[in-house]
Amino acid sequence: MDATRHNIMAKVERLLDKHPICDQCLGRQFAWLSTDTTNAHRGQSLKLALSMSADEHLKHEDKETGERLLISLAENGMFNPAKQLCEKNKFGFQVIDHCYLCTLGSEGIFERIPRIVQRVQDAISSVEFTTFLVGSSPDPILVEKQDELRANFELLDAETLKSDFNRELGKELARVLDREVDFERPDLVVFYDMVKDHVELRINPVFIFGRYNKLERGIPQSRWDCGECNGRGCDSCGGTGRKYQDSVSEYIGIPAKDALHGSKFKVHAAGREDIDVLMLGNGRPFVIEISKPTIRKPNLEKLAALINEHAKGKVEVTGLAISTRKRFQQLKSESSENVKEYQAIIQTEEEFAEEDLVKAVERLAGVTIEQRTPNRVAHRRSDLVRKKQVNEVKLKKIESKKIDGFFRVQGGTYVKELVSGDEGRTSPSLTEVLGTSCICILLDVVGIHSRQTDHNL
Ligand SMILES: [Zn+2]
Ligand SMILES: [Zn+2]
Repeated sequence: MDATRHNIMAKVERLLDKHPICDQCLGRQFAWLSTDTTNAHRGQSLKLALSMSADEHLKHEDKETGERLLISLAENGMFNPAKQLCEKNKFGFQVIDHCYLCTLGSEGIFERIPRIVQRVQDAISSVEFTTFLVGSSPDPILVEKQDELRANFELLDAETLKSDFNRELGKELARVLDREVDFERPDLVVFYDMVKDHVELRINPVFIFGRYNKLERGIPQSRWDCGECNGRGCDSCGGTGRKYQDSVSEYIGIPAKDALHGSKFKVHAAGREDIDVLMLGNGRPFVIEISKPTIRKPNLEKLAALINEHAKGKVEVTGLAISTRKRFQQLKSESSENVKEYQAIIQTEEEFAEEDLVKAVERLAGVTIEQRTPNRVAHRRSDLVRKKQVNEVKLKKIESKKIDGFFRVQGGTYVKELVSGDEGRTSPSLTEVLGTSCICILLDVVGIHSRQTDHNL
């Protein structure tokens, strides 16, 4: 094996023989060696050790090697102790002031850090945040130079320029701004483009969890544009561009967006109720995502009061709490694991006896039904057969041909079809087991239960 392969000092000697390299960049080539130090300190230490070795040569018999090393350190190493020793020994040397690995234009990129910090400080004065992370796009020419060096000199323990720079900038920002770096969920990402010398602040969204009740029929869950004009405004929608003038998500999202000074909002809910169905009981879990908020810690009680005041009698929210993107993404998928409770008024075609209802309950409660995608939603959902669990059914005759029904079912069950049978697409159904055609004339969600939504934000 080549004796110099794992000899740091031999590598440093060869590197400095070839290129001017500052302390930071020299240290970076050996960044994964040893610990509890900085790259600048690593580089400086290597230069100091090499200059000691040069001095040793000089003082004890190998004057030529000592002189060569000292001049290399004074020139390409830009190392002050070597410059002093050169002057003392009357060795001539050139003054070099740029590093091969980090100089862009006339300046080293690490020297830009105080200026970048100042720019960030100016830009964030009105932005609320407690954690941040630095990102950057490094200059491709500098990256290529280091890659080439790494291959030519077998630098197996080098760190990339990007990660070195990000850390140094992050350290300085943390110190000056008195905020913490967070690699997982930073409030703010400071992104620096080395080529354009441009700083961009990327404010991460805020997520707010809550539950909503819908107290009035005829309100869709999300904004519903006019189908004739696709939102542009036409005669059939009276120029509004909308099929329905309001929505649950706008009642919740707009005040939230305003309170956080965000740019836009998105509401995800655990499932949805039909437009003619009320959402009662403990409410449906939702998470709002607010983009680019400059306020991250709003007064949530005040926000809830504001929403409930504006949407009085229509929509009401409870239990607002700051949440996470993960929770936001989970909501939809966990919806089918929820247990949902419905209250229905059902109209039957024929007369029935009380005991028919008892039998119907026996045949529906605790069974798994098969539900093919209902005709009425076939245009927006793929046509497949879903198996759904029916946990509990209560049926009470309220008058001739009228039933008060209660259903506790797995999330994602189409309850109107569980009642009607949807021309045989849902089986068994109330129509099937009662032996007469049944339809829901009124339906309300009265409870949504799940382990996750009840205990986790
Ligand atoms: Zn450098
Ligand atoms: Zn229209």
